[in-house]
Formats: sequence, structure tokens, C-alpha cells
Amino acid sequence: PLLPQPGFVQHNPPRSSLHAGLHQAHLRDPLCKLVQRGPTGDEETGLFQYVRGFAVPPCHLGQEACSFEWTVSVSSEERMRFPNYLPNEGGHRPVRLLLEGCLLYRLRCIKVSPAMIQFDHLAWSVAETTWPSAIYVFINGVEHYVRRKVHNGKDLALDITDGLRQGMNQVSIHLLRSPAEQQDVFYAAGVEVLDVASLAFVKQLVRTIPAAQSCEEIRRRLSSSVTDGDDDLAVVNDHLSIDLLDPFMARIFNVPARGSACTHRECFDLDTYLMTRMSKSGKDGLKENWKCPICNLDARPQNLIIDGFLAAVHAELQRTNRLGEAKAIKIKADGSWELQQPRQLSSEHPASSSSSSSSSSAGAKRKRMASPTTYKTESSSTNNSTRGNSLETAVIIELE
Ligand SMILES: [Zn+2]
Repeated sequence: PLLPQPGFVQHNPPRSSLHAGLHQAHLRDPLCKLVQRGPTGDEETGLFQYVRGFAVPPCHLGQEACSFEWTVSVSSEERMRFPNYLPNEGGHRPVRLLLEGCLLYRLRCIKVSPAMIQFDHLAWSVAETTWPSAIYVFINGVEHYVRRKVHNGKDLALDITDGLRQGMNQVSIHLLRSPAEQQDVFYAAGVEVLDVASLAFVKQLVRTIPAAQSCEEIRRRLSSSVTDGDDDLAVVNDHLSIDLLDPFMARIFNVPARGSACTHRECFDLDTYLMTRMSKSGKDGLKENWKCPICNLDARPQNLIIDGFLAAVHAELQRTNRLGEAKAIKIKADGSWELQQPRQLSSEHPASSSSSSSSSSAGAKRKRMASPTTYKTESSSTNNSTRGNSLETAVIIELE
């Protein structure tokens, strides 16, 4: 039968099974060659891709409708920026040539709550792709096939760039809703436009917030936390603690950055973050993980900020040769700050000196746990009144 019988359950093949995916070999991504145009020809380089905007803004697929049709308009200028393919040599996997400024178009579906009618683009950009159980996609009347978790480890976004042409394009999808999908599983779909960009271009998208503005935000947070008794924040009496350690390097950042949507003050190192998101030529496809490594919210290049206050803290620590010992600072409402250090540990417990004190509560990846041998520290004993936790805590950094 063309369609699965009612009650049919898809079984996942063993993950090592190559045969199970052979019939989908033609759906593989093309090989990528990332180049920059130079006076002497093309040179291979590292590039970035990130979602810049939408050709079809995310829309809720509702509960009943099974057919959706959208129009994607492509100008001649946009069409010029589509990637080209290298001449194919007999049966080899096609090689796509990506240059700075290239545009890519992708169709994605994500799971949403029924109430989510208005789309927050920040939330969309960090949501995993999830295809409805049966979806048929046509671009200008040509069927495109989605790749699913069963063969690919996770549902993959559908690159429709090659199916688009200059002018108006028809994008249509048809769903067969499973019983669950008629009840309480909801989707949204949209067509994203991605930019391919160089490191220099990505860096100039990053904004710097002046130290004075950053200080003012800290002052406001201190005063509001005192009044509403929010003990989620590391607020003690009159100061705020900020962890200075970059989650990748486990030492202080060089350039302090975070996402503009982040609610924490902690920063990661800008260059380390960007370099771990740079794509290279090859068969692995382009990297894309623009989530804040501290809180997992959206941190695409256009939403990155450099914290001018923490940059000034870094400069001062560098000037006074204290970068090596810097793990966290205490900031007062007037903007003055000092290094926060655990009290000197007694010499009979040298092993515990590697655990660092942290009053940060924002780090999703930094799990707080009591260390096997615990000590009262200066910072935590002052925390005592509001946090009820006088034990030194260890910072656990999970590697991805
Ligand atoms: Zn964050």
C-alpha cells in the first residue's frame, strides 16, 4: 500500500546499519568547497552560516488544515548569490562552491505549543527541526524529500535552494496527521534564509554595549533583587558575583561576549566561540550551533554583544597581572569591583585547591555540586543569609 496501515509503528534500524540508509543516498548533502576569491584565484577558507531572516516567516500549522502553500520571491540580486556547483566528474557526489555572501534557503518544521501563535524568532532559531510523521514537500511542483532521525540521527532541515529560481516560487507542503497530531502535537513551518559569511563579516555584526550601560544594568538588577528577594541571583547584601571563566577554555575570556537575549551577566570568549562554529570544506555539511554555551538561548552573530564593563575588568586585570588568578568578581552597585577568591586552603588538603568557588547560578552547563571536601569561603559565608548554602561549590564543565 502507498500509505502506512493504521497503527503502523516505524522501527528504528540499528544505527550502524549502512544498508538501512542506502536508498536515501541521493538525499545526501553535496560536498562543500568553501573558498574566498583572491587575485590569484580561489583559496579554501573557513566560513560561517547563520539564519539571517525568513523567506516565509514561521507559521503555525494549526490542528486541521493539511495543505499549505506559500510564495517565495527571489530577486535577480538574490539569485546571483545562490551557490554554484563544480563540474561533476562522472557519478561523483556533487561539490557545491560556497563563497562569502552566498544565500541558502531552508524549509524547517518545529514542534510548538498550541498557544504559540506569535513567533519569537529567537526561540525558533534554537528549536530542533521536527518533521510531522507524514509530510510531502513540493518546490515549484517538484517533490523534495525530508531526512529524518531514523536515518540521520535527527530530523534535518530541508535545503531547497536548488529548487528555487528567480521570480515567484511555489512552496507547498501536505500533511497526513497521525492521531496524536490531530490531538495535541502541533507544528510550525517556515523558510529560512541563511547567509554564508567570513569571520571578518561575522565579527562586525557583533555589538558592544558600553561599560556605563552594562554597569547601569547591574545596578538595576542589584536594587530589584534586593526588593523582590529573588534568590535565584547571586545577590548578597550589596554586590553581584559574576563568574569570569569561559566555558570552553576554563579560564578567563579574552573578549567577553554573550547573546543579547541572555539573562545572565557571565560571558564566554568571543573568538573561541566563533572559531568553534567555523565550517571547513568537506562532506560534513556546514556547522550551525548558535546557542549560547552558558544558557542555550539564541546567540547568532547578529545577536551577540560584547560587554564593555567586563572588557574593562579584563583590561584592568591584565594591567595588574592578575588574569591567571581571576575566576569571579564581586561588583557593587556603584560599579566598583574586586576579585572574589576562596580563602587560602590549608596545606593538608592540596587536592581541593583545584575546585573553584562560584556564585554564578546562570550556567546551565556548570552544574553546582558540593565538593567532597568542603570549606567555608569568604564569599559563601557572606552568601549565607540569602542562599542558605555555606559550602564551597565546585564547577563542573561538561564537554560537548
Ligand atoms: Zn546565555
